Amino acid sequence: MLNNILTEGECSLLRSLIDGAETIVLCCHQNADGDALGAMLGWAEVLRQMGKEPVMVVPDQYPDYLQWLPNTEKVVRYDKRRDYVDMMLKVADLVCCLDLNSAKRTDEMADALVASPAKKVLIDHHPDPDVKTTLCISHPEMSSTCELVFRIVWQMGLFDVMGKHFAVPVYCGMMTDTGGFTFNSNNPEIFYIISQLLTKRINKDKIYRNVYHNYSEHRLRMVGHVLCNCLTVDDKRHAAYYTLTRSDQKKFHFIKGDAEGLVNMPLQIKGLKLSISLREDTERDNIIWVSLRSVDDFPCNEVAARFFNGGGHLNASGGRLYCSMAEAVKTVKEALSAFEDKLK
Ligand code: 5GP
Ligand code: MN
Repeated sequence: MLNNILTEGECSLLRSLIDGAETIVLCCHQNADGDALGAMLGWAEVLRQMGKEPVMVVPDQYPDYLQWLPNTEKVVRYDKRRDYVDMMLKVADLVCCLDLNSAKRTDEMADALVASPAKKVLIDHHPDPDVKTTLCISHPEMSSTCELVFRIVWQMGLFDVMGKHFAVPVYCGMMTDTGGFTFNSNNPEIFYIISQLLTKRINKDKIYRNVYHNYSEHRLRMVGHVLCNCLTVDDKRHAAYYTLTRSDQKKFHFIKGDAEGLVNMPLQIKGLKLSISLREDTERDNIIWVSLRSVDDFPCNEVAARFFNGGGHLNASGGRLYCSMAEAVKTVKEALSAFEDKLK
């Protein structure tokens, strides 16, 4: 049913890299989402099946709503245990980068990652990977890195021996990167993969609730506040943007993950093509985190690259600005006018 995703050469290289490695480090991008963390947790299970005990590293804190995933207690945070991770990266034989196309996206860990003498394998679905690797498995046509991990495991003939601790995070990442299979998920094979994951007796309904129905009352009220008071809709250009300031974050007891999904909401407006979120960093001045979402063929990654120091996928991108919120709003207005023709 599923075509092989790797060439024979890639598949045997991958096996020999794993077989030949004693110390293995896995990492993913900063501000890990369901796909990044899910791919890392799932891939770690595969390596355990192959007799390895990989070290899993995230650059920084990941959202609360992923805490329930099995084995997260084994995940090490670079911002908390820098010396240990630096040492592991120095002695590692193999580093696997999951859902990560550029060392830059590991923030403070980037230098140590680049400097690591380990052989590197990249498994990712972001465009234009720039990590120096021995094996680069980059498939931007995949809906998620978790889908890619599944296909690799399937091809390696390891799926039969995998259990729930593999199936749960992989399903979770496939679900979150497609907004609960509401975008970027028309490939029928995705549903074949889901049917296979369900044979491991995962509870997909519970996974959905764990991720999407896991907020505080404060968060729900914050969403109400932002949509009511902080959202600007540009009817003519079929675009909308909102601001989420640090003082509002304080007021609504903001914790990591509370902004999740918010940027998709303006797209519920009929005919809207682009939604942009501007969120002040929780601690640092003059850092605005930007998220962009679009529909159909509007390329929000081009907007992110040109105006917001970022990039990403056609319909889901991100970036950052180093300025005040007022200046960030100005930049958004410039971006909307620059892309006016494509938004019509
Ligand atoms: P989010 O809005 O959830 O932070 O990001 C949406 C998508 O854009 C994710 O797939 C994320 O990996 C990607 N993305 C976010 N920030 C950047 C960035 O600075 N550069 C690139 N290339 N992609 C980004
Ligand atoms: Mn992803």
